[in-house]
Amino acid sequence: MPTQFAQIPPALRFQQLSANFYTECPTTTMPRAYVVAWNAAFAAELGLASEREQSNLADYLVGNQTPQDNTPLATVYSGHQFGVNAGQLGDGRALLLAELRDPQQQTWEIQLKGAGPTPFSRRGDGRAVLRSTIREYLCSEAMHGLGIPTTRALAIGGAKQTVWRESAESAAVLTRLAPTFIRFGHFEHFFYHDQPAQLQELADWVIQHHYAECQAASNPYLALLSTVIDRTAQMIAQWQAVGFCHGVMNTDNMSILGLTLDYGPFGFLDGFNPAHICNHSDDSGRYAYNQQPQIGLWNLHCLAQALLPLVERDDLLAALARYQQQFEDAFAEQLRQKLGFVQWYEADWTLVTDLFELLQATQTDWTIFWRTLSHWALLQNDAALTDLVLDRTSLQAWLERYQQRVENESQTAAERNRAMLASNPKYILRNHLAEVAIRKAEDEGDYSEIERLRACLADPFSEQSENETYAQLPPSWAGTLSVSCSS
Ligand code: AMP
Ligand code: MG
Repeated sequence: MPTQFAQIPPALRFQQLSANFYTECPTTTMPRAYVVAWNAAFAAELGLASEREQSNLADYLVGNQTPQDNTPLATVYSGHQFGVNAGQLGDGRALLLAELRDPQQQTWEIQLKGAGPTPFSRRGDGRAVLRSTIREYLCSEAMHGLGIPTTRALAIGGAKQTVWRESAESAAVLTRLAPTFIRFGHFEHFFYHDQPAQLQELADWVIQHHYAECQAASNPYLALLSTVIDRTAQMIAQWQAVGFCHGVMNTDNMSILGLTLDYGPFGFLDGFNPAHICNHSDDSGRYAYNQQPQIGLWNLHCLAQALLPLVERDDLLAALARYQQQFEDAFAEQLRQKLGFVQWYEADWTLVTDLFELLQATQTDWTIFWRTLSHWALLQNDAALTDLVLDRTSLQAWLERYQQRVENESQTAAERNRAMLASNPKYILRNHLAEVAIRKAEDEGDYSEIERLRACLADPFSEQSENETYAQLPPSWAGTLSVSCSS
């Protein structure tokens, strides 16, 4: 029997942690709740009743009612924001509502984001705007469709409530899930507050529930860090491969599980510009696309520092020293798949570097280029590529080298084509696609585009004839869109 939303059990596993880690925090009611989005496919995977019509669903999604009348928790964390120790932050607008064990025996923490103020709200209102909620809902599911580790999105609840940002906007609440929402910043919190016993308690809890394989290591905390380093390198390599820019890679937005977390002013590359800054508020470009791999390491240094009470300094440094190679290996693996190679050779980096220079010089659309190259692998139809990459001479010279390279491989062109189509997505969540869904929702109260787009992005490697327009170059008005931290 699928579980009704109302019957999801409280966060008992999280509450094994002592009271230092959270405070009980009731939600704040919102008037006239309604369902904006309901991810029925994900609900079914979770063993939840998938119908949108279950009783009082909207009230549960905005926090007017809680499953089993349980009181949610707000957790405390700290973090480095834009390179500076920001001190205590915490769940200022996210509440841990419940925990769900799915039919595959995976346990999920369920959070409501935007369900009202908490003791950690500082000057914030504890709310989230419909606009940013739709963006997080869509991007979480798009990233999952792309095979990139991420928190998931189940639903959006709306209400007749206005919140103030640069202007008046509609409030909304996102229901999101992850095996845990613990961040690097949770560890930093107990380190900077000089609470080594709590730090150890947190590390033990994370290992017990999420990194059981580290338990047997001679120092489980070092094993934990090494695994987090590896997962973070993997995740960022996957970001780079699809052209995803996170926008706010502060340590409080870094998941201890190596999941993409806290979607704010994110963006996907259109034309290939390695220095692309997706976050309008990021003046210095600290979190530009080409900075992400090294920022990942910077953030891991913060985590390692927080583990100083538990691990010898030299061991932490030795683990961090492996990041660069782990990232390069993971990125090479992504490129191998994108290029349709059976094996990766060191010399392939030259081919890639020359391609990146060509794409950058001509600002070629990242996603469309790779998808078109995947078709070229079978059909060798130069016209489609030369329309895209405007420097025809350089392109043809590069394609000749590429063709020579693949001729040494055992795969047939058809096999290569199939593998490349499964690695180079046709559909990504470009800003303008989210914007159309947001406009319809805000201006017309029409939420159908959210679900249509979500379903398309859930299957980004398949040809979907009805969704061709989603795969096209951004329209000219997209150039005027700007996303900031305001959410
Ligand atoms: P973010 O930039 O969204 O990752 O948030 C950074 C910190 O600010 C976290 O502690 C959030 O909980 C908090 N925060 C962001 N927006 C709000 C808000 N509207 N109300 C309360 N806290 C917020
Ligand atoms: Mg955050």
